Amino acid sequence: MPIVIDRDKCTGCENCLSVCPYESIVMKEGKAFITEYCQMCMNCLSACAEGAIREIKEEGTEPLAGGQKAEGYSGVWVFAESREGKAAGVSCELLGAGRKLAGELGVELSAVLFGAPREEAQELIRWGADKVYHSDDPVFRSFNDEPFSQLLAALINEHKPEIVLAGATPIGRSFIPRVAARLGTGLTADCTALEIDKETGNLIQVRPAFGGNIMAAILCPRKRPQIATVRPRVMKRGPYDEGKEGIIIDVKADNLSSNTRVIDTVKEASGAVNLQEADVVVAGGRGLGGEKGFEMLYELSVLLGGTVGGSRAAVDEGWVPYSRQVGQTGKTVCPKIYIACGISGAVQHLVGMQSSDIIVAINKNPEAPIFNMATYGIVGDVFEVVPLLIRKLKEMKRA
Ligand SMILES: Cc1cc2nc3c(=O)[nH]c(=O)nc-3n(C[C@H](O)[C@H](O)[C@H](O)COP(=O)(O)OP(=O)(O)OC[C@H]3O[C@@H](n4cnc5c(N)ncnc54)[C@H](O)[C@@H]3O)c2cc1C
Repeated sequence: MPIVIDRDKCTGCENCLSVCPYESIVMKEGKAFITEYCQMCMNCLSACAEGAIREIKEEGTEPLAGGQKAEGYSGVWVFAESREGKAAGVSCELLGAGRKLAGELGVELSAVLFGAPREEAQELIRWGADKVYHSDDPVFRSFNDEPFSQLLAALINEHKPEIVLAGATPIGRSFIPRVAARLGTGLTADCTALEIDKETGNLIQVRPAFGGNIMAAILCPRKRPQIATVRPRVMKRGPYDEGKEGIIIDVKADNLSSNTRVIDTVKEASGAVNLQEADVVVAGGRGLGGEKGFEMLYELSVLLGGTVGGSRAAVDEGWVPYSRQVGQTGKTVCPKIYIACGISGAVQHLVGMQSSDIIVAINKNPEAPIFNMATYGIVGDVFEVVPLLIRKLKEMKRA
């Protein structure tokens, strides 16, 4: 805990309680006590007239000076998740993002692939990796946090990349925090943008914070590697180069242990909406006024060969199921065309669809924030515009 209260100096005046925006200081036996809710905003330090609240600097945690790299740490790594022996789409997206970061830093881009055949490692090279650390050991055939985190942490310790990216998927969310904990470094989950700070070379990790009301730029200036997870469909894939050459390094899966054993895996029930794979998403919001309003969106989506999504407002109203929710607490989509109907464009919605190739917004309020993000904006009533689009598409199909 970097902030401590000297109980001998604390007079129990409670001044610190009123300045803490997180209500993370409580009184215990007449003395102030900092709970686990502390966000280290440091407000309490100046509020204590007795000087009883102090920040403790951990040894070796000084930020790295501008441009200076932590000793020996270099390179950008992507943990390339695989499913049923195939590299997952998010791995290719992260290689696209990693390529840009590696280019700016002038370093190599590597991927780490467990539980998939060598051809998949070759595929990752075509998606941008210069090097792939690869193991197809049977221990990785089904996902298990312990061997995955043990080997990834060991490889990072050995090769010292300065940045590690992974998917914010059920797998990434499960074992990447273990890797960060093993390495004693930071982790920023669910990033929506990644950039390099030109002055310091630090990774700027952008993600929604405080319930999505602000976008926070998070740094990990004191520890390496800097680890970030990104949801599928947030980043764009880089170019695929059939002829690209790279190095595949076979790594040994020795001395890995586990307290758990996978007995069986059960496939997700079919029939789930494949919102994230659709090329066209026609999404509706509160402006649709009810479940009935969505009927025309289903019709439009069928004509366009796509599927239907919804804002959280529409989901909360029960007009569309949660499996169709787009946004921070729903799915992230990246279709070729995203048509937002009667959706205002709250930041929590935008983070789930902003990387779509073309965004069409239909809203009767010309000031709606969705228009700032839209490629094409139609100011109008959805109940007039959508039926017109349906009629036009039907005419085109008939012609
Ligand atoms: C922690 C947190 C997480 C959240 N996660 C998500 C999330 O994952 N996804 C998400 O979507 N939201 C999320 N939200 C909610 C978000 O803040 C907004 O409240 C929500 O996106 C609003 O949905 P909406 O745009 O459909 O509704 P509104 O904001 O009410 O907008 C309705 C829009 O419809 C327009 N309109 C009305 N009638 C018509 C008409 N006839 N024709 C054309 N336009 C019309 C209006 O002008 C308005 O712009 C989250 C919020 C929080 C705090």
